[in-house]
Amino acid sequence: MIQHKDIDDPHTREVIVVGGGIAGLSAAIYLGRAQRDTLVIDSGHSMAKWEPMVENYLGFANGVSGEDLLKDGRQQAEKHDVKFIDDHIEEIDRESEPGVFILHGKSGSYRAKRVILATGIFHLPPEIPGVRECLGHSMFFCKDCDGFRVREKRVMIIGANDETVEYALGMLLYSACVMVATNGEQTRWSEQHARWIEEYEIPVHIGRIKDVEHEEGQVLGLHFDDGREVKIDSIFTTRGDVFHTHLAEQLGAKLDAEGQLEVDHKMRTSVPRLYAAGCVTPANCQMIIAAGEGAIAAQSINRDLFEEGLKNHTLRRFREIQLEQEKTVPEGA
Ligand SMILES: Cc1cc2nc3c(=O)[nH]c(=O)nc-3n(C[C@H](O)[C@H](O)[C@H](O)COP(=O)(O)OP(=O)(O)OC[C@H]3O[C@@H](n4cnc5c(N)ncnc54)[C@H](O)[C@@H]3O)c2cc1C
Repeated sequence: MIQHKDIDDPHTREVIVVGGGIAGLSAAIYLGRAQRDTLVIDSGHSMAKWEPMVENYLGFANGVSGEDLLKDGRQQAEKHDVKFIDDHIEEIDRESEPGVFILHGKSGSYRAKRVILATGIFHLPPEIPGVRECLGHSMFFCKDCDGFRVREKRVMIIGANDETVEYALGMLLYSACVMVATNGEQTRWSEQHARWIEEYEIPVHIGRIKDVEHEEGQVLGLHFDDGREVKIDSIFTTRGDVFHTHLAEQLGAKLDAEGQLEVDHKMRTSVPRLYAAGCVTPANCQMIIAAGEGAIAAQSINRDLFEEGLKNHTLRRFREIQLEQEKTVPEGA
């Protein structure tokens, strides 16, 4: 067990992970097992909660609910001595004290030598009555996650841009009945995309959608303002995402053109000692990728702290205990 006397500054954690979703938990498990003094601060809104049956995560041939993955992941991290706090971090500062990040949450302040931002994103659902009740059941955002679930079903893609068209074309791998609804928006797709719509004979429903007819989370159809009704089994939307990057922006970290947090192959951001993992980065937003990125970030930090320890002659931990016990040579050596 890590003890405070093993740490140079007991008031400053070695690592704080902001976000206890899939990426954050994976990082926490690696850091805990690497004997790093780690705190996860989480506001409890992981997107994984929206998926009742994850079917593409390695090792779960019969699927697993997103909630269960989070619950078990947290237990696994706690087993390795990682601490958790429910809080929402609003501000982060690295100017006040050299080498230390100070994080201010709604309920308290926290200090750390290294920070991983695993804050995720928010997929914007269409603002249509009835949509929210169907989220994760028959209303989806990601064809890589849920395309397989809607094979041979009637699929409606809601949107009006190039991505909408590409989604519709991509969904033809799963279903012969794919349609587009612009929900009253002016179409913004390119001429090439318009040609593809024609070539693959994808019906486009223009006009505002009044509401979604549904039963126990299952979409049954769309009602349009002009009285039309279209029977469907599932909806995908391409309305866009909100990236939770405000903490990174406060520190001046670089974002890419889409607003995602830039990282290198070791999950380092452009700000020294600040790492990121999961959907907040340019990764394809999948659970197994988020978990992989969390592991990479944790491994990088572990190495980084090890090198810092060597440089500063602070690799104490068990050496210190050994010296206290006046056993400068390991027993039996
Ligand atoms: C409907 C739906 C279905 C999906 N289905 C699948 C699927 O079948 N397979 C698949 O691979 N992926 C699926 N996904 C995507 C999957 O949920 C994400 O890939 C995964 O959750 C990303 O992990 P993450 O750790 O990056 O973000 P998240 O899991 O979303 O976690 C981010 C965490 O950070 C916390 N947080 C954010 N800001 C702060 C702050 N300032 N302070 C403290 N905490 C903060 C949030 O509360 C949240 O708990 C689905 C997504 C949705 C919406």
